Amino acid sequence: MNLKEKFRHVLNFPKEGIDFIDITTVLQDKDAFKYAIDSLVDLVKDLDFDLIVGPESRGFIFGAPVAYVLNKGLVLVRKKGKLPYKTVSVEYELEYGKDILEMHIDAIQPGQKVVIIDDLLATGGTTLSNIKLVEKLGGKVVGIAYLVELTYLNGRQNLKGYDVRSVVQFE
Ligand code: 5GP
Repeated sequence: MNLKEKFRHVLNFPKEGIDFIDITTVLQDKDAFKYAIDSLVDLVKDLDFDLIVGPESRGFIFGAPVAYVLNKGLVLVRKKGKLPYKTVSVEYELEYGKDILEMHIDAIQPGQKVVIIDDLLATGGTTLSNIKLVEKLGGKVVGIAYLVELTYLNGRQNLKGYDVRSVVQFE
């Protein structure tokens, strides 16, 4: 399967000059979706870990099935005000804007090993905030996996020291 050609490129979304990688064309194609999940499973299955952290909202889509297949727990990172219980929070910067991300304070126990899964690595800002949340709770990030990596944005530079993996790369 050539997964790369299944992504739609939307030029100038959400603003001028951005070549947005649209994952919905992968999701709606049963073979591409299955291949994407299987590839993510293959990418992280050698790691020794307890939990998958999935950031809102596309991290849920890919994090949940990988957690299910590998028999791991799933922890949600959500935008401010969405989680019902007590939270830890961190401010984050996106490629386009700022926001606050939260995680339940009891979502990760000190010493637990975590793999973060998101749809796409751009600048790495979102993932850095996810790492901060995990580490605030005493968790250890043993891997970070993406379906797509935009290598030209050098997101890996911001994630030095972490084990960063991706299924598909756009240069
Ligand atoms: P970063 O924080 O690495 O700059 O941006 C990555 C985050 O923004 C991810 O959570 C991802 O969902 C979203 N994002 C940024 N650019 C794109 C894109 O071109 N396509 C998709 N699907 N998501 C993007």
